[in-house]
Amino acid sequence: MPDPSPADRPGSQAALRRANRDRVLAGLRTAGEAPTQADLVRRTGLAPATVSTIVRDLRRDGLVTVAEVGRRRRVRLRAGAAGVAVGVDYGHRHVTVATAGADGLITAERRAELAPGLPARDGLALAAGLLGEVLAELGAGIDDLAGIGMGLPAPIDTRTGGVGSLTILPTWVGLPAARLAAEAFGRPVVVDNDANLGALAEQRWGRGSGVDALVYLKLSEGVGAGLIMDGRLYRGPAGTAGEIGHTTVDEFGALCRCGNRGCLETLIAARHVADLLRPLLERDVAIGEVVARARAGERAFARVINDVGLRVGAAIADVCNMLNPQMIVVGGELAQADDLLLEPIRQVVSRRGIPSATDQARLTTAGLGARAHVLGAAAVALEGANHIPSSFAERTV
Ligand SMILES: [Zn+2]
Repeated sequence: MPDPSPADRPGSQAALRRANRDRVLAGLRTAGEAPTQADLVRRTGLAPATVSTIVRDLRRDGLVTVAEVGRRRRVRLRAGAAGVAVGVDYGHRHVTVATAGADGLITAERRAELAPGLPARDGLALAAGLLGEVLAELGAGIDDLAGIGMGLPAPIDTRTGGVGSLTILPTWVGLPAARLAAEAFGRPVVVDNDANLGALAEQRWGRGSGVDALVYLKLSEGVGAGLIMDGRLYRGPAGTAGEIGHTTVDEFGALCRCGNRGCLETLIAARHVADLLRPLLERDVAIGEVVARARAGERAFARVINDVGLRVGAAIADVCNMLNPQMIVVGGELAQADDLLLEPIRQVVSRRGIPSATDQARLTTAGLGARAHVLGAAAVALEGANHIPSSFAERTV
């Protein structure tokens, strides 16, 4: 890490101004309806004159625009054009690029399939192409954006920025993802684990609004959790917090891609569900089809989803006992099964969890659905825009 510039040194006037500015932007993002300046004073606890100066600067920099002038000339504010961020989300076989503003609504979106074993640089070039299409649709340039965030199905080492080996994208292991992405996209990029991003997005714009203790469980090809504790994302000192998919369920079970045996992921990953049904179908099956046929009452399909729910329920009961979350959000491909999955989870959680830890815990599927991860990537980009010393941030200090 380079030494902080004089403007970033803790305790300096510039650092204080930057912190106050972040508070006003955070107030603006979380206010829901377009707030007035007086609303921002109440939300931030800052002096009216301070808020007034900051809002003037944010308007000058295009980060805040006037939404409407209401009765008694009350000005309502909202995030401006520069408040639009790009989220990039890599899954096992796809990449999605989308833009979203402070309201969490997607304004443009592109998706492409990823060939198995595609080198990371080629995957980034593919995303850069999608980014170009999205910008063209918006009539915007790369420098008009608040920032770019990117989600990977991998732990990201918070010390080195390297992609951890527990990823389902083997060509990315050990690479400095943020640096390579910045080279490919032409702007700094904030990178995080996709389950972490799902947790952030659900807390900001989904079903977890206002929830301070939230667990987001991603059930796709990879299985992982994003943990929000005391209102903040908990990544752990090395960025590996939440790797629940690699807890051992059966010591002598199937070999896992992490090198261990019988990990939770080997029993509930999307591919495993499809493999269980292979004797019946003699072909690959998508989770969407499994869910549809389970709903139609086909016994084997309902059974495999129920069994996934029982396994996940045991893991969630442990998580509840350990972390006492207010909300557990189930996301990823398997969340399409909705109540077929949630019902067995509930059964096991109530049987195995400590009542005081599980009674208050709300279990739900992701309100943002398959877009939770890409929206989380946009969310960290919006947050990062207030910290990265980009050109507009430099001008305000
Ligand atoms: Zn494993």
